[in-house]
Amino acid sequence: MREQGSRGSRGAGEQGEKTFTQSTVNRLTNPVTTAAQNDSATQPPNCSSSNMVQLRSVTKTYGNGCHALLDVNLEVKQKEFLFVTGPSGSGKSTLLKLLYGGELPTQGEVIVNECNVSSLRGDRLSLFRRRIGIIFQDYKLIYQRTVAENVTFVLEAQGYTRKEIQRRLEPTLKLVGLLAKADCFPDQLSGGEQQRVSIARAIVATPPLILADEPTGNLDPDNSWQVMQILQKLNSFGATVIVTTHDEQLVRRCNKPVVQVRNGRLYRQSVVK
Ligand code: ADP
Repeated sequence: MREQGSRGSRGAGEQGEKTFTQSTVNRLTNPVTTAAQNDSATQPPNCSSSNMVQLRSVTKTYGNGCHALLDVNLEVKQKEFLFVTGPSGSGKSTLLKLLYGGELPTQGEVIVNECNVSSLRGDRLSLFRRRIGIIFQDYKLIYQRTVAENVTFVLEAQGYTRKEIQRRLEPTLKLVGLLAKADCFPDQLSGGEQQRVSIARAIVATPPLILADEPTGNLDPDNSWQVMQILQKLNSFGATVIVTTHDEQLVRRCNKPVVQVRNGRLYRQSVVK
């Protein structure tokens, strides 16, 4: 990871036990080829393939004149784990939104998984987002559906076969420690369990990049640590993981690289001790 130092807005769109099978691990490391990967138009030639994320002189100014990010440069290599910290309102969520194309930069370039995100529209943007697992602070579960249905829904929407969906479901639920709760509804689960469902949903298609926006913001320390262990395990399986948080204690405990956003500017931080 290396760092030095907006147009419009658009809408957006995934363990902890040791039973995640080797085949699932392989799929994470060697992701299933998708239409997005086959689409050469989504792959600019000028991005080093070892970079999962590259921000070049990115500024994001919202329509109301708020400068959320100012001249931000950042490189995150494949298989890296990065924390983005900073006070509320400093620009952390905006940074993640730019990575999955939920917002467009006002200036500069955002390159993710070899795609220039600003150039993507419609189906290409949808296909691009399938390669990113996004985890939100507020889970965003469907409360009328069971745990299993919340997870498989994503794959159904992407046209996976029933057989492939079933093949992925069990190891994913095992990974987040929720196999026994597959038939429960979200409101029968604790906050920590609900967040683990949202992680399962984010990872079931084995995306190479996982973005987690304050994933522990609503959780107590024990559940927060469980979530962080799952994210670290996914990283050890080969996923690039970027996590925003303002929980300094958690960051210290994880001992991973950290950048800090302050007033829209990005600062490198050595590992917080
Ligand atoms: P953080 O995630 O660190 O809390 P955000 O990225 O959400 O920060 O916000 C950074 C700044 O941009 C804040 O001042 C916030 O009010 C502003 N902001 C965020 N989203 C919008 C929006 N859609 N329109 C206008 N201003 C926004």
